[in-house]
Amino acid sequence: MDIAKNTTSVSLIDPFGRSINYLRLSVTDRCNLRCTYCMAEDMTFLPRQQILSLEELRDVAAAFVELGVEKIRLTGGEPLIRRDIIKLVSSISCLPGLKEVTMTTNGMLLPKMAHSLKDAGLARLNISIDSLQADRFKEITRNGDLAVWHSGICAAKKAGFAKIKLNAVILAGFNDHEVLDLARYAVDNELDISFIEEMPLGAISSHERATTQISSEQIRQQLAQEFSLVNSLETTGGPSRYMQVIDSPTKIGFISPMTNNFCESCNRVRMTAEGRFLLCLGNEHSMDLRDILRRYPGDDGLLKSKILEALQSKPERHHFDPNRTDIVRFMNMTGG
Ligand code: SAM
Ligand code: SF4
Repeated sequence: MDIAKNTTSVSLIDPFGRSINYLRLSVTDRCNLRCTYCMAEDMTFLPRQQILSLEELRDVAAAFVELGVEKIRLTGGEPLIRRDIIKLVSSISCLPGLKEVTMTTNGMLLPKMAHSLKDAGLARLNISIDSLQADRFKEITRNGDLAVWHSGICAAKKAGFAKIKLNAVILAGFNDHEVLDLARYAVDNELDISFIEEMPLGAISSHERATTQISSEQIRQQLAQEFSLVNSLETTGGPSRYMQVIDSPTKIGFISPMTNNFCESCNRVRMTAEGRFLLCLGNEHSMDLRDILRRYPGDDGLLKSKILEALQSKPERHHFDPNRTDIVRFMNMTGG
């Protein structure tokens, strides 16, 4: 078959029969924070000309949607520091066939941007928070101001975002004693929250990742001291499982890439900010789509055929070991 000319009705099925309908699209590797588990302290960021332009990001998004992607999450680095991010949300949210555009953000710029994001068609927000104590928040993020984060949450609610989800990476010895506080905050504010196991992505010097590991099961046991939780049927595919807090709208998610491998139900792929189509978070299988975009501008058929070709190299699963940094790519370069 001439794939390039016959891709409109082709869906993204990988060699293991998994159907891919979710793209995480990184719009920048830069960030206004420096979370210790995500980045080294002195990071070198990509030169701007190596980052996909707004038009290139939109073309990539359109190609994936034509191939069957139904949900796109904009991420980074910090997506809200990308110039013209509102324009990008507008241009992607109206792609025919796309069910929703969502975003993962650290929330620091939401006070001034939440309304415009909502107006541009952003459906949902995940907002990261690892500590509700101002000094620890500053320590983990290296320069974050918790008061600004709180204003961001207020702005997002005021703008009308429903189903806001918090993301918390829990590190033993740093913020594991805040698990109940974080969950209480979510319940009191009718938000969802996911607890994430730290992954060994990129070499850091702030701590030994092997010593800060804490499993989702340990976190669940802490939560069970205070909350009645039942399994929820909700799933986004990939390595997350949800529980419902009884008598509350809050759902608690457990993202367990280290202790519970759910790769068999993986439904997602990623595009890095420099246009690398990354097939798996924990492996380096990828294809340089920026090269295709820049050498053959406007050739949607070729772009789609390259996406289908690359999908054939999606690995079956990841193999993370907290004692080893096999993947030198930091999370901000990956598109979390
Ligand atoms: N800057 C935005 C934010 O922080 O929400 C979006 C990008 S950030 C890379 C996406 C998510 O990845 C955040 O929730 C962050 O806490 C998480 N993350 C970063 N590094 C991680 C790591 N090594 N292991 C697990 N999660 C990580
Ligand atoms: Fe920035 Fe998000 Fe990484 Fe923190 S986790 S340094 S906010 S990209």
